[in-house]
Amino acid sequence: MKRLELARRLVVKIGSALLVNGDGQINRDWLASLVADLSHLRTGGTEIVIVSSGAIALGRRTLGWAPGPLKLDESQAAAAVGQIALAHAYQQILGADNLVAAQILLTLYDTEERRRYLNARSTLTTLLREGAVPVINENDTVATSEIRYGDNDRLAARVSSMISADCLVLLSDIDGLYTAPPGSPEAKLIPEVLDITPEIAAMAGKPVSGVGSGGMITKIEAARIAIGAGAHMVIASGRELHPLKRISEGGNCTWFRPKATPIASRKRWIAGALEPVGRLVVDDGAVKALLAGRSLLPSGVRRIEGVFSRGDTVSVMTLTGGEIARGLVAYDKSDAERIAGLRSSDFEERLGWRGRDEMIHRDDLVVIGSFHHEPG
Ligand code: GLU
Repeated sequence: MKRLELARRLVVKIGSALLVNGDGQINRDWLASLVADLSHLRTGGTEIVIVSSGAIALGRRTLGWAPGPLKLDESQAAAAVGQIALAHAYQQILGADNLVAAQILLTLYDTEERRRYLNARSTLTTLLREGAVPVINENDTVATSEIRYGDNDRLAARVSSMISADCLVLLSDIDGLYTAPPGSPEAKLIPEVLDITPEIAAMAGKPVSGVGSGGMITKIEAARIAIGAGAHMVIASGRELHPLKRISEGGNCTWFRPKATPIASRKRWIAGALEPVGRLVVDDGAVKALLAGRSLLPSGVRRIEGVFSRGDTVSVMTLTGGEIARGLVAYDKSDAERIAGLRSSDFEERLGWRGRDEMIHRDDLVVIGSFHHEPG
C-alpha cells in the first residue's frame, strides 16, 4: 500500500501540536483540509476512524494555565474542558463535508479487557457500517496514572487492532523515522520499515515533541501493535494542509509493513494466544455452518461446559468430542445456557433483553485447521 485510497478501514491519529495553535485555538483551516482528504477517501469506499489528541492542550489554555508540566488531576480537569471544544470542532468541520461525527472516549480497560473490548468493537463497527466517522480520544478525565495510555499513538494502534483496520496514519510534527536525530547532517528519512529490528527501535531516540505526550518511542511501540495486527502504518507530517493527499502523492513519510492481513492476524491471535476456558458442544448443522465460514448461532449449541464470561475464549466441540473451532463468546455462561438451542426471535423473552444474534460472531471465530469433519 502506497496510496491511502487502497485502505478499506483507515485510522488517522492527529497529534495535539497540529490541532492547537499557539493561541490555544483549534487550527480550523488545517482540520478542514484534513477532512477534505478524509471525505475524498470516504467517497472511494474507505471507512474512517479519527483518533484525536488535543483535549488537554486546548483545555489548559482555556483555563489560562501557563505552559509546563501538569499534575494528573490538572490534566484531567484540562481534558474535561478541552474535550467539549474538540468534539464541537469535529462535529462542525466533518458536518460541513456531510460526514457524521461520533465521539468515543476510551480507557485502557476498554481496549484490554475483552468484554469491554467486544463492546467497543461492535459499537465502532456499527458506526462505520452507518457511514459515521468515530472520533476517539482517551477518556482522560477518569483514567488514573496506572491505567492510562497517556499517548494517543498506542491508543490509535490498539483501536486499529480492535477494529481490524488495514491502515493507521500517525500525523504529528515529524515526517517520519530518521536514521539519526532529525536536523543532524547524517540524518536520513527511512521510507519503509519491513521489520522493527533493535537498530530501528534505537533510531527512535528520546521523546521530542513539546505539546503532545508521544515521541518517536511511542510511535515505534504503536507500529509494533499495528503491524502485529496486520495493519500498514505510516508516520507522516501534518504540518502542511492536506496531509493525507500528500502521503498518497508520495510525500515524505515512513511506512511500516505488516506480515499478514488483519483478518489472518486476528484469527491467529484467537487460535493461539488465548487459552479456552469453556466448551460449547454443537450439532452437525452448526458444524456445517462453521465450515462454510458462518457464525455460530445459539440454535446450534447443545451443551455448555466450563465457566466463562462474555469475551472469553471458548472451544467449539462436535458431538463426537473433536474441537472444530475457537472463538470469543458473546455471552456469559449463564446467558449462553438460557438461549442455547433457541432461535434469535426467542432470545428477548428468555433473557429479558435483546441479545446478539450470534453466540460467536464469525469475525471472532477461527476454525481449527487440522479438523476433518466426517459427515455422519
Ligand atoms: N489524550 C490527550 C489529549 O487529548 C493526548 C494524548 C497525546 O498527546 O497523545 O489531550
